[in-house]
Amino acid sequence: MQSEDELSMRNEEYIACVQLLRDCESGKLDALNCPRCHEDAISVWFTNPKKGEYRTWFLCGKCGFQTRAQNETQPRHFCPDRIHRELEANDRAILNVARFQKPENTPQD
Ligand SMILES: [Zn+2]
Repeated sequence: MQSEDELSMRNEEYIACVQLLRDCESGKLDALNCPRCHEDAISVWFTNPKKGEYRTWFLCGKCGFQTRAQNETQPRHFCPDRIHRELEANDRAILNVARFQKPENTPQD
């Protein structure tokens, strides 16, 4: 069982992520409002860990908040200058691990 606080926190973060994705879609890639510290300190980064696999990352420069979204296709504002090499290496490592796991152990994320 989850406490109501936990659930409402999740819900708030979910709503914040939807808002971040919406800002990103509209071309706003810097100074997005952080759901945790409420500063306009979030920058958008992309990774392309594998052909046809894209991730959109939201990183806060103030409090360290970070969240990511998986993209089915290349994000509209994807640009090679915004590829975060470190995160991309991480995402690639996660994909490689997932490939060698048995199907029942595959993360649902
Ligand atoms: Zn923050």
